[in-house]
Amino acid sequence: MNRKTTRRRFLESVGLAGAAVGLGRSRTLAGMLQEGKTPSVAMTETEKPALLGGKPVYSGTWPGWPRTSKSDEEAVMEALRAGRWYRSRSVPEFEEKYAALNQAKYCIATSSGTTALYTSLGALGVGPGDEVIVPPYTFMATVTVVLLHYALPVFVDSNRESFLMDPAKLEAAITPRTKAIIPVHIGGNVADMDRILAVAEKHKIPVVGDACQAHLAQWRGRSAGSWGTTGCYSFQLSKNLCSGEGGAILTNDEAAADACFAFHNCCRHRPNGRGAANYRFGRNGNFRMTELQGALLLSQMQGLEERA
Ligand SMILES: *Cc1c(COP(=O)(O)O)cnc(C)c1O
Repeated sequence: MNRKTTRRRFLESVGLAGAAVGLGRSRTLAGMLQEGKTPSVAMTETEKPALLGGKPVYSGTWPGWPRTSKSDEEAVMEALRAGRWYRSRSVPEFEEKYAALNQAKYCIATSSGTTALYTSLGALGVGPGDEVIVPPYTFMATVTVVLLHYALPVFVDSNRESFLMDPAKLEAAITPRTKAIIPVHIGGNVADMDRILAVAEKHKIPVVGDACQAHLAQWRGRSAGSWGTTGCYSFQLSKNLCSGEGGAILTNDEAAADACFAFHNCCRHRPNGRGAANYRFGRNGNFRMTELQGALLLSQMQGLEERA
């Protein structure tokens, strides 16, 4: 942009053009500019953004999403035809492979990233009157899962450089009611787990990582979701690894794994009897992943490295 085209003037011009279109005139933005009806901003063809009729710098099409392959089709059809719709083979296999991929001991596949977070908090015993520390810059689910447990989200502001939870502000937010801390690895950018975990350990507060946007992201050479008590992932359609809907909890803590499994499975323990404690959570239920999702994820995992 040249001297005369300040950011403010550019935004004004786009806003004006947009307003005229909004009034129902059938003109294109480019047409309006050519007719000289819009704004005073004098731009040459090369300076004009493509949106306003300038020359596009990229003439190809957007890559399609989701990416599908023959292997996806075969995996889903195989589970479908076998009548294997309830977690039995693909889901446990996915859990095993996803745990291994992320250097975690256990993985519990869930119906979504939201239910992965909700299950983690429920398994940790978060409930009415408790406080959970969250960053303000995140997807709504990080905060609403706290409210769904009738607990209070307490915001610790983001660091202005990283947009991630500012560890320097964490300790001041801790009270005797703090039951969990949820750092979010937004856009694959990993929160400062060294400092967050140090504060958490000092106060003996579990950390539930929200890695729903951080597939394959690492902290100190280890998967972002493998730090803390649990790490939660989403496989919703917009994420780098997806099955339409779906989620996963990673943990290295056997007791947390068993509690999460029971919480997401109507208080029932694993088929092999593991985690057979008498769980009474109250706000739990069915947050299981289906076999069709599990089969698709196993196939989709093959191209993850390239997409993430
Ligand atoms: C997507 C997302 C979630 C929730 O995942 P769903 O699978 O959509 O429920 C939670 N936190 C963050 C940061 C997300 O991006």
